[in-house]
Amino acid sequence: MTTTCCRSTSSDSQFVQDFMGGVSKRNPHEPEFLQAVHEVVSSLEGVLQSKTQYVSGNILQRLVEPERAFQFRVPWVNDAGEVKVNRGYRIEFNSAIGPYKGGLRFHPSVNLSILKFLGFEQIFKNSLTTLPMGGGKGGADFDPKGKSDGEVMRFCQSFMSELFRHIGPDTDIPAGDIGVGGREIGYMFGEYKKLTNTFVGVLTGRGLGWGGSLIRPEATGYGCVYFAAEMLATRGETFEGKKCLVSGSGNVAQYTCEKINELGGKVVTLSDSSGWIFDGDGITADKLAWVMDLKNNRRGRISEYVSQFTGAEFNKRDELLDHNPMWAVDADCAFPSATQNEINATDAENLLRNGVSVVSEGANMPTTAEAQNVFIDAGILYGPAKAANAGGVAVSGLEMAQASQRLFWPREEVDGKLRHIMSQIHKKCVDASKEFGCEGNYVDGANISGFIKVADAMMAQGIV
Ligand code: NAP
Repeated sequence: MTTTCCRSTSSDSQFVQDFMGGVSKRNPHEPEFLQAVHEVVSSLEGVLQSKTQYVSGNILQRLVEPERAFQFRVPWVNDAGEVKVNRGYRIEFNSAIGPYKGGLRFHPSVNLSILKFLGFEQIFKNSLTTLPMGGGKGGADFDPKGKSDGEVMRFCQSFMSELFRHIGPDTDIPAGDIGVGGREIGYMFGEYKKLTNTFVGVLTGRGLGWGGSLIRPEATGYGCVYFAAEMLATRGETFEGKKCLVSGSGNVAQYTCEKINELGGKVVTLSDSSGWIFDGDGITADKLAWVMDLKNNRRGRISEYVSQFTGAEFNKRDELLDHNPMWAVDADCAFPSATQNEINATDAENLLRNGVSVVSEGANMPTTAEAQNVFIDAGILYGPAKAANAGGVAVSGLEMAQASQRLFWPREEVDGKLRHIMSQIHKKCVDASKEFGCEGNYVDGANISGFIKVADAMMAQGIV
């Protein structure tokens, strides 16, 4: 089944070429940022034709320019007494609909291009959640892997000793992302509190005893599965008996796996940067509990799974291959939950060939532009990251609401709100794609719906 859509998947229109020419010239050497902008702009031609006020207001050109971006030195001392230096960043991209909101990533690959792509995506994702949050993102090229708790604490304290002057509960509220979990949020919150002498909701993803929300750790993974369930429902299907591929083994992957199990599906893969495991019997709740302990407490490698569970196999990552064989395993659904561009066009073809008809993105931009076109042309149920993984930031928004009211909502209440928000996001994508003549294309639906709310707010607030 093919889908008619707003974008052309074979070549860029003149409008897209002209716009991207200008953005590329202003942002050379930022491939991830350009990829993210290209994806959004390719969805918007029809919107700009029918709402010409956005053109005269130069909304697109204003949107691709961060309101503020800064970079800073992060010096710290390792356990051997050596002085180390990393680079910290925060991109405050757009505050049209609320204070800047978006995670912090600690990974050696972090640079301006990656954080600008993430910050740009965050604008539309936050808009889709229905909550009042602008877009931001930050992080550092620091690798927590292999570091002691003491080293991670000293790094986080040094990072916050600069970041604290730029953020605040009504200004910019960071959260976690790759390499930033509960431990790192705790160290950064402690330093912020000491420096400002305030106990406020300046970071989300906090511990339950000190301002956090139930369901926040689960939210991105659960939300991604709820979104897939909504997509399946449009074809009268459920998760019952569905075989699923999940990549990554961090926060998003773990809770994606948990929710798929709860809904009657079976997860057969997980991965980390060293390779992937296949367990044909399924990664059951007991096995997942072991993985969570491995990753969250013992901080081990996914390869250790096979010494614990016989019958499973580990496949080492092969840097020389032009595709990831994990995406060639027979399955019904795929949940990329590790990192950007982890599915290329060959992987996308392999997924389709081996039976996958649902892709729900837990990671941000895990699919290359070419691979996205493969999914769109095939007309499968393809939920792009800014819609499918918005559950994490949505519950961060709920954590902010609870912090402001000094209230703590029960688990069922937060989960119910998350489920409702994911269903609303799904509806917005479907409605926008119908309105603009690209029914069934969730990429265009998400981009159009996320964009219109932000664009209208920017128009209303004047040239600022
Ligand atoms: P995490 O807990 O740090 O886990 C990341 C996982 O991905 C780990 O298994 C990691 O393996 C793997 N990974 C990271 N970089 C990789 C690379 N370059 N190649 C191969 N594997 C890689 O992070 P997370 O919070 O689950 O985030 C995963 C994805 O979800 C990211 O794209 C993030 O932006 C997105 N996301 C997260 C949230 C959230 O609430 N946490 C919300 C929305 C979107 P190693 O341990 O070997 O590095």
